[in-house]
Amino acid sequence: MANKRDYYEVLGIGKNASADEIKKAYRKLAREYHPDVSKLDRKVAEEKFKDISEAYEVLADEEKKRSYDAYGHSGVQTHFGRGGFDWSDFSHFSDIADIFGGTVDFGDIGIGGSIFDQFFGRRTGTRRRGPSQGTSLRYDLEITLEEAFKGAEKEITVPHSVSCDACKGTGSADGTLQSCDICGGSGQVRQSQSKGFAQYVTITVCPKCKGSGKKYTNPCKSCNGSGTVPKTSKLSVGIPKGADSGMRLRMKGAGEASRDGGPSGDLYVVLHVAPHKYFVRDGNDLLTEVPITISQAALGSEVKVNTMEGKAMLKIPQGTQSGTIFRLRGRGMEDPRGYGKGDILARVVVEIPKKLNKEQKALLKQLDESLGNYSRAARAPDLVR
Ligand SMILES: [Zn+2]
Ligand SMILES: [Zn+2]
Repeated sequence: MANKRDYYEVLGIGKNASADEIKKAYRKLAREYHPDVSKLDRKVAEEKFKDISEAYEVLADEEKKRSYDAYGHSGVQTHFGRGGFDWSDFSHFSDIADIFGGTVDFGDIGIGGSIFDQFFGRRTGTRRRGPSQGTSLRYDLEITLEEAFKGAEKEITVPHSVSCDACKGTGSADGTLQSCDICGGSGQVRQSQSKGFAQYVTITVCPKCKGSGKKYTNPCKSCNGSGTVPKTSKLSVGIPKGADSGMRLRMKGAGEASRDGGPSGDLYVVLHVAPHKYFVRDGNDLLTEVPITISQAALGSEVKVNTMEGKAMLKIPQGTQSGTIFRLRGRGMEDPRGYGKGDILARVVVEIPKKLNKEQKALLKQLDESLGNYSRAARAPDLVR
């Protein structure tokens, strides 16, 4: 982690850059480093493109940016998988799609599409060499803090495509297949375009075969020769205890069906924990505020505190100051990697009465005099001179 570059530095911007400046900087670098257009060695360009995209993923998201500003790289680590940032973590394809000819198909929940296929383990133009995997999809799922606390089983409805039964995914009614004569079977066409000194290569889905790479003498009627049919599937997602925002759950084979008999793509369910009425999460700890009265703070008392499993009693010692944080050990979130449980951090806030009647005012004044504060207050003007 120590040698990881600062995200602001990666995008070449200042710490105070606005959302708009962050986006502009990223778009500019994406034009420079996208492996399909970069003049750099492909491997180098891919690395660079991934680095700037990781920086953008963090800085373009208010919540992630806040934790990064506060804690650096370790503050955003949990948003990415074990191996760090991965393309399936990237949620801003739409911000750069237009740069590359707008050919990326996002659908409702889709990621990927021709340009980005390579980042999911496929390179463009290799379809002829064997069946390719279907496109991977992303599904954003909001869960409650309660569901994250206890773990849950959620049902989601996913529109995707599955292999056509009638033709067993071949797209042909009688098994006669030929390669598409426009794209030669790759399913994609490349177009070069010059702008000034730069040459851009746009890769688009073949307009004739719509990406299948096949030409049918007798196309299957059920799927119109595509080999896949749209389907809405109900899937059950197991939410692990301690799940946090940004966690990705991979559902193998639940993405789009392959267009040429290869394995289906995967579905990545990205979790978002909704804000909670009482708690703000900080790692595995839960922060909450507990209002107490002046006398409870001064005399000590016992107050009720919300936990994820009902109320708990909290002892307020005599003379507690406003802002004091008490720790309820083991009452926080379970660590999703099995490192035990976090705590509840209860911050007491002493509430000062806003309206007092005559009698109450007199009592407070009397208290003040008894504490010897009256003379101190009288000296105050000297101090603020
Ligand atoms: Zn079919
Ligand atoms: Zn074609």
